[in-house]
Amino acid sequence: DKLKESRVYLRALFDYTPFEDKATPCQEAGLPFKRGDILQVVSQEDATWWQAKRVGDCNLRAALIPSTQFQERYTFMSWTTASLRRSFRLRKDHQSSSSEPHTPDANHADFLIYEEVTQYLLRPGERPRLIVLIGALGARITELKQKVIAENPRRYGLAVPHTTRARKSHEREGVEYHFITKAAFEADIHNGKFIEYGEYKDNLYGTSLESIHRILDQNKVCLVDVQPEALKTLRTAEFKPYVIFVQPHICSSQRKQLSSSSSLSLGITEDDLLEMKQSAEQIDKCYGHWVDYVLVKEDPVSALAELQVLLERVQMEPQWVPASWVR
Ligand code: 5GP
Repeated sequence: DKLKESRVYLRALFDYTPFEDKATPCQEAGLPFKRGDILQVVSQEDATWWQAKRVGDCNLRAALIPSTQFQERYTFMSWTTASLRRSFRLRKDHQSSSSEPHTPDANHADFLIYEEVTQYLLRPGERPRLIVLIGALGARITELKQKVIAENPRRYGLAVPHTTRARKSHEREGVEYHFITKAAFEADIHNGKFIEYGEYKDNLYGTSLESIHRILDQNKVCLVDVQPEALKTLRTAEFKPYVIFVQPHICSSQRKQLSSSSSLSLGITEDDLLEMKQSAEQIDKCYGHWVDYVLVKEDPVSALAELQVLLERVQMEPQWVPASWVR
């Protein structure tokens, strides 16, 4: 039985560097991995150190990775120490005795360690996976998704969002958006119609569950463009979302051009670039572990081509998904 291949596959949700790990029994025996890597667990006999291989790695020998339980305890402890230090510093700075050290909520589920995954291939007749596009500031995904749909409207559809902003002359009701009043939007929020909504430049935007179902019921691949927070709601066996994170391309030549005074014709300031970069970093930090693909948008034409190839692949080739989605 021992010779049987293990069928436990885990997606790492954190980066692990054995050489920086003081707890490891032997640094050379550790398996370095990055967030997003798929690990095949060969043995879970030891409660603290499991044996695993990285999928796609040509190294056939298994090495050690921290067990979930061990890593949770380790993360919890370093977090507690850090937060005790922080509150101690706060007390010293403010000389106030009232701020008790903050005791973290012992909700271990908050720690991102591993997620059990399995390979999933869409079967004939099965509903296509939901395509979730999340965009960093400046990625301009609205035009990207509109183009995908325009080129193949029988295969792709867009979950049309609602907005309270005024319709622009080239826009049509129900195509780019459903344009509604603020009062109607607020009533919809109250009635739980939106899976997510947000405010942008004093206008409200939101996506309804109904708009997603409308596309899926036509047996089309549904594209949604939402705030990353919506992933908490959308990551279900029903939707099996494939998450694409679209980032604007910020290259050093663009930066150099900007620092020379002749650059303002681009219409982007140094501050805009910095904000775009920070937005991408923030999303990566908070939601990167749920991202299946990062698309860096160098120019609209190549980004569209890359997205189209990717969308075909998602429906035709096996993908790693949480094991709980296919049980
Ligand atoms: P625009 O008014 O230019 O069409 O869109 C402005 C911004 O609203 C976009 O950058 C986009 O991120 C955001 N937005 C568009 N649709 C939605 C949506 O369904 N939900 C949320 N939260 N924001 C949206």
